[in-house]
Parts: sequence; structure tokens; C-alpha cells
Amino acid sequence: MSEPTHCAKCRREFDPGDIRYIDSARRYSSTPFCSGCVDHCRGSEIADHFCMVDRHFHGSDYRT
Ligand SMILES: [Zn+2]
Ligand SMILES: [Zn+2]
Repeated sequence: MSEPTHCAKCRREFDPGDIRYIDSARRYSSTPFCSGCVDHCRGSEIADHFCMVDRHFHGSDYRT
């Protein structure tokens, strides 16, 4: 099993040295997404917002 090297959502290459607080390209924990995508997703106030990041955290049956 190989570790992902790019964010599954925005396709940016993970950069462990990116310590920016906002829109960082660091890999977020053990997810296949970058920190920037997860932060953006969690910060969304759009009720209907649902993307592959949400699916990862909530499971595939959360909403179709
Ligand atoms: Zn990303
Ligand atoms: Zn999302």
C-alpha cells in the first residue's frame, strides 16, 4: 500500500514543509487530502456542501 503524494481533491502535491495556517499543502493527518482542502471544507457554511472530503469523514452513506 503506497501513501498518497497528492491531494485527492485539488491534486496539489503534499508539502510537509508548508506550515501556512491557511490553505496549507500539508497532508491532513492520515487522510488523502491536504490541510487546505479539509479546512476549506470544514469552514463551509453552505448547507448543501458535500464533497469527497466530507464523504471521507462521514462515510459513503452520509448523502448521495
Ligand atoms: Zn487539497
Ligand atoms: Zn467538503
